[in-house]
Amino acid sequence: MKHIPLVDLKAQYAAIKNEVDNALRSVIRDAAFVGNRNNPYVRAFEEAFASYLGTKHCVACGNGTDAIEIALKALGVGKGDEVIVPALSWISTSEAVSNVGATPVFVDIDPRYYTMDSAKIEDKITAKTKAVMPVHLYGQPAEIDAIIKIAKKHGLFVIEDCAQAHGAEYDGKKVGTFGDAAIFSFFPGKILGAYGDAGCIVTNDEALEEKCRLIANHGQIKKGEHLEEGRNSRMDGIQAAVLCAKLPFLDKWVFARRNVAKIYGENLSGSGIVIPEERPRGKHSFHLYVIRIKHRNAAKEKLAKAGIDSGIHYPVALPFLKPYEKFGYSEKDFPAARAAISEILSLPIYPELKKKDLLHITKTLADIAKHE
Ligand SMILES: *Cc1c(COP(=O)(O)O)cnc(C)c1O
Repeated sequence: MKHIPLVDLKAQYAAIKNEVDNALRSVIRDAAFVGNRNNPYVRAFEEAFASYLGTKHCVACGNGTDAIEIALKALGVGKGDEVIVPALSWISTSEAVSNVGATPVFVDIDPRYYTMDSAKIEDKITAKTKAVMPVHLYGQPAEIDAIIKIAKKHGLFVIEDCAQAHGAEYDGKKVGTFGDAAIFSFFPGKILGAYGDAGCIVTNDEALEEKCRLIANHGQIKKGEHLEEGRNSRMDGIQAAVLCAKLPFLDKWVFARRNVAKIYGENLSGSGIVIPEERPRGKHSFHLYVIRIKHRNAAKEKLAKAGIDSGIHYPVALPFLKPYEKFGYSEKDFPAARAAISEILSLPIYPELKKKDLLHITKTLADIAKHE
């Protein structure tokens, strides 16, 4: 029986082997391993990615979680401050807030699009609120114009968590270009992935860029001169070179992912399975293809028996995780996130996914749904 994984990085490598191998060889030849201010590979990626998005600046760093912490610190968010985050995301979103000494304040998700429910943000704003951090979850853009409007009204910073949304758009503009700053992760399984951990912060604000750059590299402005204490969170030369080699394929990959999503949608409609909806003003980049299905755990097992991997993103909503028990939330506080976590199921999606395998998945799923 053929095994269909959730993502297939080996297939991707096979398709771009020459580009990647050459990139790796050059970094090794030049011994350009550490991403300090002089690393040509890291600087080249920063320029290329900023230009791809249409932002002025990009600061490469060690990973997406660090990128959030660095952006928050650079904006002066810390002890005693609150940051509004969605109830459904990967833990980095709230963890980074806690790690700078601030408090994450969760807001429920929109049950239809899974991103932060903008109608519920204002209820959560207090005198301590400093920033709102929408997540473009699964590749679906958050309702960013409404969020920016609320943030402006209350004098809050907006940091976009674009870790799952490379190439996604809202009103024809790339996500990551709307807030005061945005962060991306290049974890290998993300839409644009490195060959290890990597991340970046993007912004149009030059002072903020410089501040992030200082924080990410020990506060060092030049050899022997440290303006402040920072940390070590630099992107490796190897990761930057791999990302440079991959970036020219990003739009093609997003197109292919959207095509996989389209085929899923066509073949699953009418099956009783809830398929993901694209926000009318958004362009979904489908990092994940998340359906909703009753008896989800049984469906997941039946898929596994047919050789099909699936995932749950995420099995527990953030407010219900152990580190946040101290806030004393109940399930009634986040009804949409609570309802979603028991039914969501992520199906295999990657540019190299074969039509035949895709149809095997949809047929298996339709069978499962019919016998429920
Ligand atoms: C992956 C991810 C991150 C963090 O990225 P790392 O590079 O793994 O640290 C942050 N937010 C979200 C929503 C993510 O999916």
